[in-house]
Amino acid sequence: MVYIVGAGPGDTELITVKGLKRVESADIIIYAGSLVNPEILKYAKKDCEIHNSAYMNLEEVIDVIKKGHSEGKDIVRLHTGDPSIYGAVREQMDILKENNIPFENIPGVSSFCGAASALQAEYTLPSVSQTVILTRMEGRTAVPEKESIESLSKHNATMIIFLSVGMISELSKKLMEGYSKDTPAAVVYKATWEDEKIVRGTLADIAEKTEKAGIKKTALVIVGNCLGNDYELSKLYDKNFKTEFRG
Ligand code: SAH
Repeated sequence: MVYIVGAGPGDTELITVKGLKRVESADIIIYAGSLVNPEILKYAKKDCEIHNSAYMNLEEVIDVIKKGHSEGKDIVRLHTGDPSIYGAVREQMDILKENNIPFENIPGVSSFCGAASALQAEYTLPSVSQTVILTRMEGRTAVPEKESIESLSKHNATMIIFLSVGMISELSKKLMEGYSKDTPAAVVYKATWEDEKIVRGTLADIAEKTEKAGIKKTALVIVGNCLGNDYELSKLYDKNFKTEFRG
């Protein structure tokens, strides 16, 4: 069996119980070495065969899976965060289906959730924003025109930008087409890792502060008034608000 597992954002304790069990019993692990914390591999069996996909192309990854599968082995494909977010898993899953290799998906804690815990933030604050946009800036990978940063920023929703901190100066300019320049912004580098770093500011100064901190990759940019101090209390815990559980 093949398991496509989310390893979580960094802290090795943030893999799910189910994911960890599969890591512990795997005969073969192929992990995304660029971002998966290698410490997770210490949970693997002593004789587990380990491959770092940072040095492999898709064909090589598939070859390892096919060979292992034909030998009746349990294979774990370990992705960073949650595999469904910029995980390049669809192409792998389609090839596995074509080859009649069964697989199971096990979700993980995405880095945007790790960043919320680092910032002690709630992304969906009543009267501030009830929407979270996960996106990226166009780089080598094209982004559909309707999803440009400029157009998404018009919603003034909470926005988490992946894979773009290296272009933060250009990014913050585009964001300021929709958000006001004093909108709170933060950059979280290696959320939940031991060397995590947080930079806080506003759209007007976040680029400069981030560059000063020397952060060029492995970071998320978070923008929105949910990082500010004004919000309404939630209805959920309001003493006058009746729920299914509280009459
Ligand atoms: N599937 C992953 C995202 C993979 S794309 C997830 O769910 O988190 C890789 C990008 O994710 C990085 O360029 C960075 O923008 C972000 N990222 C991944 N791990 C991170 C972490 N621990 N802290 C901050 N950003 C992270």
